[in-house]
Amino acid sequence: MMGGLASALLPAVRKSGVVWFGSSGKLRKVVPGASPLVQVETYGRGTIATVDLPEQHYSGFYEGFANSALWPLMHSRPDLSRASAHDYAAYREVNAYMARTLATFGGADSTFWIHDYHFLPLAAELRKLGITREIGFFLHTPWPSRRIITRLPQFRELAQAMLAYDLIGFQTDRDRDNFADLLRTELHLRGNGTTFRTPRGVCRLATFPIGIDAREFATRAEQSFEDPLVQRLRASLDGAKLIIGVDRLDYSKGLLQRIHAFDRLLTQHPDLSRKLSMLQIAVPSRETIDTYRELQREVAERVGAVNGRHGEIDWTPLRYLNKGFCQSTLAGFYRASAVGLVTPLCDGMNLVAKEYVAAQNPEDPGVLVLSRYAGAADELETALLVDPQDIDGISRAIAEALAMPRSERCARWETMAASLRRHSIHRWFANFLSELKSPQPNVLPMAPNVVPAMRAAGHDRELMAQP
Ligand code: UDP
Repeated sequence: MMGGLASALLPAVRKSGVVWFGSSGKLRKVVPGASPLVQVETYGRGTIATVDLPEQHYSGFYEGFANSALWPLMHSRPDLSRASAHDYAAYREVNAYMARTLATFGGADSTFWIHDYHFLPLAAELRKLGITREIGFFLHTPWPSRRIITRLPQFRELAQAMLAYDLIGFQTDRDRDNFADLLRTELHLRGNGTTFRTPRGVCRLATFPIGIDAREFATRAEQSFEDPLVQRLRASLDGAKLIIGVDRLDYSKGLLQRIHAFDRLLTQHPDLSRKLSMLQIAVPSRETIDTYRELQREVAERVGAVNGRHGEIDWTPLRYLNKGFCQSTLAGFYRASAVGLVTPLCDGMNLVAKEYVAAQNPEDPGVLVLSRYAGAADELETALLVDPQDIDGISRAIAEALAMPRSERCARWETMAASLRRHSIHRWFANFLSELKSPQPNVLPMAPNVVPAMRAAGHDRELMAQP
């Protein structure tokens, strides 16, 4: 099974001929001064290069700062965010290490495109090594409001470091505007909302909602009839309708609320007994972090309670699996499902929502019930949009989806499918790179003599603020 980031990017790497550079998933003791070991393999027209990460800093970097400080904040859960100075130092160390490795591997002429919250200060480290070429960044998670991100003790230092990127891409306009607001109000930069003047030039912000290869997903779904797991799932339904949820086990995904809503649906509609079944795939994630282990325990307990309350001797209403499946099998599962239930409390995009739509049979599509707080809701407006905290609302939406006439299902699906075609992963990839390489916008330079004079007078802040 691949994570969202890898499954989103690898198809583009395969077709485009770029070099993907990332962690090998292995750790090694890094001896200062030793040159890093990069493993390289070809992948379609592209190349995949991986490097082992430094063992001594990994835990502070990954479980610590990235996933226990940044991830909760990015998903508007400051109550769960823990930012220790030790973890932050490890995070900076790993970013510096990746920069050193990339600089030797890629060279000064390469254009770099960095991905996600693990590497917010990577460009700043690359600049320290003398890299002057374009460096772009794409954030796959949301960027929260200023009220939330300023709870991070190191927010100012990180935002400042991010100005070393030439272009920063976001999933939605809301994320982009939140970041711009931070630059204006906390870093006192002036700009036109999307272009900010920085000490080294200009940093541009833009929105690039990530897509999928919908055509390829549809083909996989059509061919999935041959997959034994898909056949077994279909046979087990015995005429009942299937509701599907597919998520990493993460508190941002709204799993507890979703199970609660399913429970309420069965309580309010006893007539649905045996006529439906819900399959929740919850892939274990970040299990070394207490919050995740606790969530796993709580979800399992709630699933048991629902089945205990509503189940029959020959009917299990909620099937719960703690394992991952390959995407071809998933495509078949999606197609076999009358309802796709995607209700994160907060999500950068949510690719599962798009994959569910792509996998449907156009003649008889299922219905997507989608959280308004997933980035995907900006594009998939004809899904049944719900507030993921509103238990009654989700329960009502599932009932509506189950009863929806085919003509309405087809009309809603057509609009969403057209949107998926317009926003393919390949177009996303090309758009970002062409924007990154496009000439910098015409920002009026200050008269050369003004700059040193202001600096000498200690007006660095104003200097950065000049549009
Ligand atoms: N996925 C998978 N097998 C599974 C469950 C999920 O390959 O059993 C993939 C899924 O197809 C999707 C990705 O994992 O491409 C999840 O991405 P999403 O944006 O929905 O969430 P994330 O995990 O990135 O938060």
